[in-house]
Amino acid sequence: MDAQQSSLPVRGMPSGALRLLFLSIEEVMGSDGIKAVLNGAKLSHYINNYPANTLEYGVTFGEYGKVEQAVEDFLGPRGARAILIRVGRELFRYSLREQSALLGIAGNALKNMPLISPQAKMKILLQQIVGAANKTVNQPARLEENDEAFLVVIDQCMCQWRPRHDKPCCLVTVGTFSEAMKWLTDRPIEVKEITCLNNGADACRYQIPKKLPEES
Ligand SMILES: [Zn+2]
Repeated sequence: MDAQQSSLPVRGMPSGALRLLFLSIEEVMGSDGIKAVLNGAKLSHYINNYPANTLEYGVTFGEYGKVEQAVEDFLGPRGARAILIRVGRELFRYSLREQSALLGIAGNALKNMPLISPQAKMKILLQQIVGAANKTVNQPARLEENDEAFLVVIDQCMCQWRPRHDKPCCLVTVGTFSEAMKWLTDRPIEVKEITCLNNGADACRYQIPKKLPEES
């Protein structure tokens, strides 16, 4: 454990959030993949024994960060990049199916809302996710915007419990926002993490462009 990790206090989060991460990794990497990851994270007590599907704070930011790091260590930083983004995409789809409070999703009522612009819908969905991060996940977050983009700003993140990276490393979250925007608009929207707490920035910031790519 390096200095960055060991100096941080324990920060609780809902058991259901870590469970959702495990289920998403299992979907992408298979049952042997999640086992290897949990062994690598030194969290083997969770093998075939996932945290409960509850919003009670029964797990920690540190555990969540360790699991993301173990995926990266298992596949190597380059190979892990696409996989972690896919895990995040799966995490959104799973939340949508389960109507999970963890992402605060209104579901098809929002997607099919007539007479409002895609950008207005994007803003509503992002506000819901930010609200759920604050209320449910113990993750202080806010939504900002400028003419070109929405910015989701997160002040406390699991990446603070990971070894320091040179570049933004919250790829699961990039995948989750990417899939959320794709589901909502039926367009591939390129979400970028532009600053990251892990690299010493004051917040993790996700940039979501307002302009939709042309329909292909
Ligand atoms: Zn980050």
